[in-house]
Amino acid sequence: MALKRGLGQSLKFLKKNKKYGWVSAMEDIDSRKAPRGVRDILPAESWKWAYVLNVAAGVTAHFGYSEIHLPVFEHTELFTRGVGDTTDIVEKEMYTFTDRGGRSLTLRPEATAGMVRAALEHGLCGDRGQGRASKLWCWGPMFRYERPQKGRYRQFFQIDVECLGLPGPAADVEVIALSAEMFRRLGLKNLEVVVNSVGCPQCRPQYRKVLFDYFMSRKGGLCETCLGRLERNPLRALDCKKPECSSIADDAPSVYEHLCEECAAHFEEVKAGLTRLSFPHRLDKRLVRGLDYYTKTAYEVLSGDLGAQNAVCGGGRYDNLSESIGGPHLPGVGFAAGMDRIVMVMEQQGASFREKPQSQVYVVAQDDAGSCPEARGAAQVLTHRLRTKGIAAEQDGGDSVHAARSFKAQMKSAAGAAWACIIGPEELAKNLVALKNLRTGEQIHVPFEDVESHLKT
Ligand SMILES: [Zn+2]
Ligand SMILES: [Zn+2]
Repeated sequence: MALKRGLGQSLKFLKKNKKYGWVSAMEDIDSRKAPRGVRDILPAESWKWAYVLNVAAGVTAHFGYSEIHLPVFEHTELFTRGVGDTTDIVEKEMYTFTDRGGRSLTLRPEATAGMVRAALEHGLCGDRGQGRASKLWCWGPMFRYERPQKGRYRQFFQIDVECLGLPGPAADVEVIALSAEMFRRLGLKNLEVVVNSVGCPQCRPQYRKVLFDYFMSRKGGLCETCLGRLERNPLRALDCKKPECSSIADDAPSVYEHLCEECAAHFEEVKAGLTRLSFPHRLDKRLVRGLDYYTKTAYEVLSGDLGAQNAVCGGGRYDNLSESIGGPHLPGVGFAAGMDRIVMVMEQQGASFREKPQSQVYVVAQDDAGSCPEARGAAQVLTHRLRTKGIAAEQDGGDSVHAARSFKAQMKSAAGAAWACIIGPEELAKNLVALKNLRTGEQIHVPFEDVESHLKT
């Protein structure tokens, strides 16, 4: 019934609005449901997120990175210029809107461009955007209009780590090491680092030309998307996931013969650093990542058993991003890791999220059928007092006015807690609380004022 009425109302709403030309989408709108491709992170999952973020905060602190909070929308130009207008993101996935002042704004599809923008705006890397390093991390929602599927959402959450102002390969190694250490602490199995170099503005044009010629010679086999942007960016065809393009890309000329001296030396030192830190890594000439701003290093961290590997993060170096958005030269390297994906892979691999936090103490009022409302009042006072002393405490929803559930039902609710504090007419008369250890079943009586000290021992 409720559903029918809801649909009817929403149809009426649609019609009414169509008359005024407000609604262009023909899909039925049910305002009791979230839009397609977004989801609520419910309490059953959110405590796992809190654990992952806690680990991320610990690792980033140990590596010397500070947290920063960025706006979720930016000027559209930041992404068209920074991320690149031949990327899937800018071509077809951005949530762009005009605000009431007539500005074109975009919900951030990724965090790196915003991070660089913030560093420039606030001089975090020196007055003219240069001169000192700035190591930053953030987390939050990103937005891309993609086809929703398992583990992929239109509002998704990323942990984003960026090291700005350092041009040398040691920074690349540090960022890769940070990501791998985060996943190690989270208990992910069989970590593998996959690295590549995508060159720089000095050597890439040459490689682009070689690639372009190669793909043109096989253009009959390419998908339409790749064909459409071959001239503008032949590198895109390297990481196309369509099977027809994939087999052609496998035989494509490798970047390694085309790197300039500087890029080649940088790449060698990144590989040497990873070896020094004992990170197993593999080269993949097709790894170019879906963003135009990468220079030199591009990498991913995979986790899982062979054959069923999941990319848990991706990143690389982007020495020209700052200039492409109108800033000074500002080298940078970083990575983004998807929260949804991390939690999913941890669940698949049976990783531990530590214990779900729960009430340590459950305060039970013995007041069956409203026989002792004062017990409810005392339970309310004790619960609050324990909470203010830093002890997680829970009680029945009832109080001295609204007598609620029976003693038996309350004891059932207490099952997940470590202790039950029971207050009934007898305890009230003697100013005592019955303290029951729910693990051992042992029960003692303690003075009402002394409950905390007994719980803490
Ligand atoms: Zn180069
Ligand atoms: Zn393709």
